[in-house]
Amino acid sequence: MTMTEVADGVHRFSDAYVNFYVVEGREGLTLVDSGLPAMWTPLERALQGQGFSLQDIRALVLTHAHFDHLGLAKRLHLELKIPVWVHAEDAFIAKHPYRYRHERSRFVFSLTHPRGLPVMASMARAGALKVPGIDDVRHFPGTGALPVPGSPEIVFSPGHTSGHCALFLRERGILFSGDALVTLDPYTQNKGPRIVAGAATADSALNLASLKQLAATKAELVLPGHGEPWTGGVEAAVSIARANGPV
Ligand SMILES: [Zn+2]
Ligand SMILES: [Zn+2]
Repeated sequence: MTMTEVADGVHRFSDAYVNFYVVEGREGLTLVDSGLPAMWTPLERALQGQGFSLQDIRALVLTHAHFDHLGLAKRLHLELKIPVWVHAEDAFIAKHPYRYRHERSRFVFSLTHPRGLPVMASMARAGALKVPGIDDVRHFPGTGALPVPGSPEIVFSPGHTSGHCALFLRERGILFSGDALVTLDPYTQNKGPRIVAGAATADSALNLASLKQLAATKAELVLPGHGEPWTGGVEAAVSIARANGPV
């Protein structure tokens, strides 16, 4: 696992083709997504390397509840009493991480897109097949900023899942785009701004339509759930993702 400070007070954790982020705020840390179960100890060590500890985490905010974003949620909640925030529409997936809706069969998709197989194997090694569900979550308010360190604003952007939300740090011009807009599709290994393949996306047309809400933030830096940070502004990223279209 690598940890990089991608902006002032914002750290990116990356392993097994999955990203999650730590935001420094005045009252502690907010985690944006939580990777996979095997990332607990690497996260703990990485935080210590920056003079923090797991106890400094005040909240976990999920862009959506897919298993590769939910990995540490239950343990953080049980062992450290950290509140876990998610959109109400994704509460069911948070409880049942393997019962999500997607357009295309993952099995058939893997056979026709074998480049995604090493990614799946890497995620499996990091515990992707053993992510515990979590029942006790806090639902996002309709709009506005969350009462957590860094005060991220909710940008409702359904399609990848029905409750997907990007998170916007307005003062810092940073958008956590989750899986509504990625720069690496884990299922095809295609790089550059795009939506995730139908093997994991519930409604590609709705996902593409939701890119409008992302573009409206005019964020300078886009930090996706998969792939490298995008520094060319969200509007350019959205144009490219629209041109790439659904897979
Ligand atoms: Zn996802
Ligand atoms: Zn994902």
